[in-house]
Amino acid sequence: MINCKIKVLIFLVIAAMLGTLLASCSPKAEKQADMEEVVLGTFGSMRVFATSTKKGEAAMEKAFQRIKDIENKMSTSIEESFIHQINEKAGKEAVEVDDDTLFVIKEALSYEDVTNGAFNIGIGSLIDLWGIGKEWQKIPTSEEIQEALKHMDIDQLEIKDHHIYLKDANMMLDLGGIAKGYAVDEAAKTLRESGIESGFVNMGGDIYALGTKEDGSPWMIGIQNPEIGSNGVMAKLPLSNQSIVSSGDYERYFIEDNVHYHHILDPETGYPTDNRLSSVTVVSEKAIDGDVLSTAVFVMGLEKGLLFLEELEDIEGVIITKDKQVFATSGVKDKLEIIDNNYKLVK
Ligand code: AMP
Ligand code: MG
Repeated sequence: MINCKIKVLIFLVIAAMLGTLLASCSPKAEKQADMEEVVLGTFGSMRVFATSTKKGEAAMEKAFQRIKDIENKMSTSIEESFIHQINEKAGKEAVEVDDDTLFVIKEALSYEDVTNGAFNIGIGSLIDLWGIGKEWQKIPTSEEIQEALKHMDIDQLEIKDHHIYLKDANMMLDLGGIAKGYAVDEAAKTLRESGIESGFVNMGGDIYALGTKEDGSPWMIGIQNPEIGSNGVMAKLPLSNQSIVSSGDYERYFIEDNVHYHHILDPETGYPTDNRLSSVTVVSEKAIDGDVLSTAVFVMGLEKGLLFLEELEDIEGVIITKDKQVFATSGVKDKLEIIDNNYKLVK
């Protein structure tokens, strides 16, 4: 009898302890805080949920600071940046870079290989020649394009410890297709280090979804309608602790004689990629991978790009064609919720 009473008592104590434990794990009434800034040449926004608005804002300030720090190291237009220095000293001498820049360059190099050259950070001279989105944007002559194509050989990039050297004096690096993704990952990491477990980082379409909603369900993240001039969302995907990154011909472009020239250049032709696609969205654990792969798959085109995405582990993607057909990899096909009926999912 006594034995039984003790057993009941032990059970009640354990149940009470477990209750306290579960209560401390369940989400507290969190306060939403938002912050916006123009950074990395794009409109950046963050939303976090924290125990107080002040705590949330302090965390976002640190995260934006980290993004600016990355911009200052990797932008081609900031004169003090490592990338600007490397380009300036091409054919002359090596430049010592920091860990961030070295990491991003190494990632980019391995992706040049994986994507068979569709993604190539040695594309800087060609990007500069077209100047899309810059004051000097223009259609170059075919001679100028042929000349720029001669200076994109990634084997001309030499790495010794932290020293980067471009052997070809006319070659330039451009991290425009990868740095933003890295910055988003680092911003999410900074938020986590400040104790934030839930929120978003959005750098002009490179998004990281941190944690879950208060009820534990995933965030529903929109995929932008790629139609030029439209600001809507055409579909949604449930995401948690994942990034979603889109590349499209609607992001940066100019129109001349009714021809649309956009910023994703085909390293083979030297011209803006001209295929059936209007956008590519990649879902991955890290935004750096999504950033590179969305750009690379855009260059590869529908058939090759879809097969390529399907073969990559832990990477999913959604490809939208100009005629509003939607192709998705097997891991996201059933999760994709199309909300704009002009778009049709191809089964
Ligand atoms: P995203 O907006 O991520 O698709 O990246 C496009 C940016 O990446 C452009 O503005 C260029 O700075 C750069 N870029 C364009 N084409 C390529 C390419 N084929 N490989 C690597 N970077 C590229
Ligand atoms: Mg990209």
